[in-house]
Amino acid sequence: MTPKSYQERRWAGLPALLGAILAALPMAGCAPRPLAPADPDLLAEIQTIRAIDNHAHPVRMVSAGEPADRGFDALPVDNLEPQSDPVNVRPGAPAALDAARALYGAKPKPQTIQEKGEQYPAWVLDQIGVETMLANRVEMGSSIQPPRFRWVPYADALIFPLDNAALAARNSDRKSFFALEDQLRRRYLEAAGMEALPATLADYLSRVVTPTLERHRRGGAVAEKFEAAYLRSLDFDAVERGVAERIYAQFAGKSAPGEAEYKPLEDFLFRYVAAECGRLGMAVHLHSMAGAGSYFDVRGVNPLLLESVLDDPQLRRTKFVMIHGGWPYVREMAALLTKPNAYLDFSQQSLAIEPATMAGWLREWLEFVPEKVMFATDAYPSSNEMGWEESGWMAARAGRQALAIALTGMLRDGEISRSRASQLARMVLRENAKALYGL
Ligand SMILES: [Zn+2]
Repeated sequence: MTPKSYQERRWAGLPALLGAILAALPMAGCAPRPLAPADPDLLAEIQTIRAIDNHAHPVRMVSAGEPADRGFDALPVDNLEPQSDPVNVRPGAPAALDAARALYGAKPKPQTIQEKGEQYPAWVLDQIGVETMLANRVEMGSSIQPPRFRWVPYADALIFPLDNAALAARNSDRKSFFALEDQLRRRYLEAAGMEALPATLADYLSRVVTPTLERHRRGGAVAEKFEAAYLRSLDFDAVERGVAERIYAQFAGKSAPGEAEYKPLEDFLFRYVAAECGRLGMAVHLHSMAGAGSYFDVRGVNPLLLESVLDDPQLRRTKFVMIHGGWPYVREMAALLTKPNAYLDFSQQSLAIEPATMAGWLREWLEFVPEKVMFATDAYPSSNEMGWEESGWMAARAGRQALAIALTGMLRDGEISRSRASQLARMVLRENAKALYGL
């Protein structure tokens, strides 16, 4: 299909598509930006499919006088040393202006928030075509509730139970992150009815770790999230329990272990939590993409480091979801999808990477193991201009465009039929997540 014939087809279908295409186009200067070569009928269809968003950070409503919500992330990334931000998420990015215009029109945003009240977060989902959003939050709230929102709490605090001073000393980002993990672990201890760490690993597992996970499950959690890639590398080795017990007994409540001394205990605890998630019917979500902050360890987030976890026979019941699809290791990610317990979503990629670029590896995934690939936004409150609403809108638009471009390529090359393209679109946007979580 040449660009010309693409343009002709696009305008031929205009009446039915007008709303969807206008919503998908930046209107600055009233000159539509040329669309990547997506089949317009397929794109229009994709825009009508109500999605399950596999990963996002919606912000809950607070009443007047109440402090602003901070529960949208265990490790908010707003106090890090400056980095070179990707172009698409810099202040003034055209897509952010499109988002604001599409969401609020001429009305000031605070007015819309006030008018919608407690229904505001669900209203945002309606605007971005999301039926159900997995809310990766420390806790839910009255405005962030099932069935529109499903809970994904955090488990990192459970695998760093000791004095984290040596780990925090590595750089300023780790220092602020470990302070936050220490806070969350204190909350988990309190909720388990304890003021201090138990003296033995056995007691820590049975009186803190398992009860915390069970409490999350009772609270409606469908998965546990690890942001571990912000705290260490993802090479969680298999460690004998006796080794972990000795490290725990040596340091718990006493002194701070060095990084190398600590690691086997973290590794053991990660696999323990993952096994418990499998037992409890929760998936494990792992941040797996080069992340925020100038000190982020890009090599340490290579999903291949998780291969021995995926291959652990004790963990085959646990479903591991590589959040953000492993970028830049997108081909490694494709190979891992053949593991029976490996899944991915393309959140955050859909915000930071242009749809035509992302469509390249999305197509590879869809040609390989399509039932493991899920739509997601990573809607996140980064700034006043780019709240979770705007970033959610941007990522939802770009993610749908990327999906349309990838499927169009497969159609054009005779790999799939038009009806299979529709089926794959529905799988990625909702059916795969529905099957994974039993929604
Ligand atoms: Zn996230």
